[in-house]
Amino acid sequence: MDCIFCKIINGEIPSTKVYEDKKMIIINDIAPQAAKHYLAIPKVHLANIVEMEKKQAKIVGKMLKTIGELADSLGLQDGFRIVSNKGENGCQSVGHLHIHILGGEKLSEKMG
Ligand code: AMP
Repeated sequence: MDCIFCKIINGEIPSTKVYEDKKMIIINDIAPQAAKHYLAIPKVHLANIVEMEKKQAKIVGKMLKTIGELADSLGLQDGFRIVSNKGENGCQSVGHLHIHILGGEKLSEKMG
């Protein structure tokens, strides 16, 4: 499958990994949109949040919990924003579910 995030997970494409466990990685976004911009990516390939099955929802729930636990060590102690884009209107550009984690500075109040 020609998926850039699967290739990052398999080590075929380099990335700046800041965290890894059995089910997910967290990397620095290559084109940061905030002082800190990470991507949390499940190792299992699923296209987006709509295609998630029950078992995968459990993985994503655990990912959110882990993000919360890592926040301080990622420099997000003053707060952060998480976003998961879906489809054309959501401006999703990579078809492998991922959660943006933005922070390290005061973010815009506008989200759209
Ligand atoms: P989205 O537009 O929500 O699908 O987000 C995809 C994100 O992946 C964008 O913020 C890109 O900057 C980021 N991205 C694309 N390729 C890479 C890469 N090789 N390493 C790290 N981040 C990437």
